[in-house]
Amino acid sequence: MKKNNSIQKPYRGRFAPSPSGELHFGSLLAAMASYADARHHNGSWLLRIDDIDQARVVKHSDQHILNTLEQCGFEWDEKVSYQSQCIHHYQSALEKLNQAKLNYPCTCSRKQLKALSDSGIYPGLCRHKIVRDSDDKNSAIRIKVSSEHISFIDQIQQSYRQKLSQDVGDFIIYRRDNVFSYQLSVVVDDFQSAITHIVRGYDLLDSTPRQIYLQQLLSYPQPQYAHIPLAVSEKNLKLSKLSQAKKINCNLNTLVLAAHFLGQEMGQNEVDNIDDFWQNLISNWEINRVPRMEKQVIIYP
Ligand code: GLU
Ligand code: ZN
Repeated sequence: MKKNNSIQKPYRGRFAPSPSGELHFGSLLAAMASYADARHHNGSWLLRIDDIDQARVVKHSDQHILNTLEQCGFEWDEKVSYQSQCIHHYQSALEKLNQAKLNYPCTCSRKQLKALSDSGIYPGLCRHKIVRDSDDKNSAIRIKVSSEHISFIDQIQQSYRQKLSQDVGDFIIYRRDNVFSYQLSVVVDDFQSAITHIVRGYDLLDSTPRQIYLQQLLSYPQPQYAHIPLAVSEKNLKLSKLSQAKKINCNLNTLVLAAHFLGQEMGQNEVDNIDDFWQNLISNWEINRVPRMEKQVIIYP
């Protein structure tokens, strides 16, 4: 009998909005692309509320986002997860990284660093320090990066690579205000939920090598990535920053506009209700029709 060593894992995708306001057109695009790709592959689609940074949470916006998604016809699997309820997972990942002896406490202030370099790349002042229980409560924790290239093939943007030591520098995994960093928390969350495919906005493309680096150190599998173009207004403003685009109206026109933005053809037949829309989009979905660009202008009615 032929032995097959490659275990095909079931597709698990996700959408992970930050509860810092209403669902806007930009986040609808990420929701739609991740959902259509998951369903097209008969996969699961999970929702996670990225509320690790409690100071930025707008009260009840999680509920508003969920309601809007529901009105738009999205259906998610499993219970919605909240980062604020997963702190113990981040804590154990941090301890695992401490054991690799790549972490160090950093007490440099933003002002101090600004004076040293404009690039935003950490100059390594605290690199000689060792993490100890007695560390100042106000120190951040950084991780030493390597000088090897990290490359991956994005399903939309094609190949992308960074040399972390040159392009990013030692980065923060635990903030001095005692919050686990975005980079660490998403890596742990996606692993905990066994996510196999990540479809999200282009603004996170340059975070991906840092996330892959953490996955490697933590011995987590690496998901497939796809980064969709950002929607900008004619004045080149990111939609999330525009007041008129704050909240979307979930009607068929908005959904069709989003599908066109994502380069999808809606099939021959007329789509005249939301159910038809999803059926049509999911069965005809092709990720390689999504434009390979950083941003695209949208004229939002
Ligand atoms: N919560 C992040 C955001 O809203 C998305 C995280 C991710 O997709 O990795 O920008
Ligand atoms: Zn420092």
